[in-house]
Amino acid sequence: DLINLSLKKAVENKKYNPFITVTQSEALQHSEDSCKRYISKGAKSELDGIPIAIKDNFCTRNIRTTCASKMLENFIPTYNATVCQRLFDAGAVLIGKTNLDQFAMGSGTVDSIYGPTKNVWIGNLKEGFYISGGSSGGSAVAVATGTCFAAIGSDTGGSTRNPASYCGVVGLKPTYGLVSRLGLIPLVNSMDVPGILTRTVDDCVIVLNTIAGFDPKDSTSVNRPFKKIRLPPANKLSIKNLKIGIPLEYHCDSLSSEVLDTWNDIAQLLEKEGAIVKKVSMPHTQYSIVCYSILNQCEVSSNMARYDGIEFGFRANEESSTEKLYAETRKIGFNEVVRNRIIAGNYFLLSRNYDKYFTKAMKVRRLIANDFDNVWNEVQMLLTPTTLGDAPLYKDFISKNNRDQCALQDYCTQPVNMAGVPAVSIPIKLSQKGLPLSLQLIGRNFSEPMLLALAKYIENIV
Ligand code: GLN
Repeated sequence: DLINLSLKKAVENKKYNPFITVTQSEALQHSEDSCKRYISKGAKSELDGIPIAIKDNFCTRNIRTTCASKMLENFIPTYNATVCQRLFDAGAVLIGKTNLDQFAMGSGTVDSIYGPTKNVWIGNLKEGFYISGGSSGGSAVAVATGTCFAAIGSDTGGSTRNPASYCGVVGLKPTYGLVSRLGLIPLVNSMDVPGILTRTVDDCVIVLNTIAGFDPKDSTSVNRPFKKIRLPPANKLSIKNLKIGIPLEYHCDSLSSEVLDTWNDIAQLLEKEGAIVKKVSMPHTQYSIVCYSILNQCEVSSNMARYDGIEFGFRANEESSTEKLYAETRKIGFNEVVRNRIIAGNYFLLSRNYDKYFTKAMKVRRLIANDFDNVWNEVQMLLTPTTLGDAPLYKDFISKNNRDQCALQDYCTQPVNMAGVPAVSIPIKLSQKGLPLSLQLIGRNFSEPMLLALAKYIENIV
């Protein structure tokens, strides 16, 4: 049956390393329950008995949740994240917990204690392998290999859309507050959202309809009714007179010519199909990377304070003093990326630096968000690249030079998280090398119905 097939695929695709934990026995049990249910009273929902995967930074009751870090290697949550609970209540069957960069800090799924996740598109090269993108690379590969119908990722600065782009799947970052963050282990509370990775836009809608909507247990969840999205069949969709903006500032220096051509081609195609495509300006885009990095590090330094070796997670073998126990635990438990962000964040938050960095970055964030508010006076949607090129080779991506520029990966995705608006990455075609090239659509808050309708339209014409 379907679940056995999924589990078989999980074994076959182990070489790409999408999973940290494969939940085989639970999956078989749930699949049996769902079959019995189906025979006695019919399926609970469209997702009943359907295999899904969840990024390993969402709490799952009685199933370890590691954040790909030594710090939480043996952490077994006592509750389900709301997103997981809603999927399980709908009958979806968890196949496994997927790989990520440690605590979702990264854009490659290269910084996991379980090793990197490899891209599935081109293998067996003498130069090594292409990265899956990240930090939800495991989720993207679980979907791209057909191991599961959908996977949940998280998106703080692009972590769902980036691997979706590199792996050629659909990746949705919903409006901040539309999907509950309860049980998503926080990276940057003011930007984190659960993301959805699927092979088609219609599949994405099914998952969004299941997980979206108010959660009283998440204070940032928006208390307004969520109306389930129903997209018409592709041939009934129309984009006549839809105003689509092309932001000038997203033409950054490092944009590959292939992505630029793809972007221009699709813009022209949409115009031909009746949309009104116009150039718009979002002047603060260029400050987004620096601003993000300051705010990210500040929130990280505060979020990571809970991992002290006392309450839960890893504890170092150090008994000389409490202070030394903290220090040793954190030195061994976290990788260099996490430690560096904690140190930088603490520096920015020192009372003498607070205004110079943190308050200033908050102001710049407001300007970036205002760019979006202003642009909606001119257009209804934005069309941009998701990533600046196709997937890089692992060996290039982890080289020292590139490490320093890693944030550039998120150039087109981060401003969206600063503003909280929804965005979706959709695969368009293959590059000359044979790797996926994708574009991103961005809409105003809670415009998911229109955003996904346009995404489906594009999916259908490319
Ligand atoms: N690459 C970004 C970072 O490392 C975004 C990560 C994410 O969205 N989780 O912070």
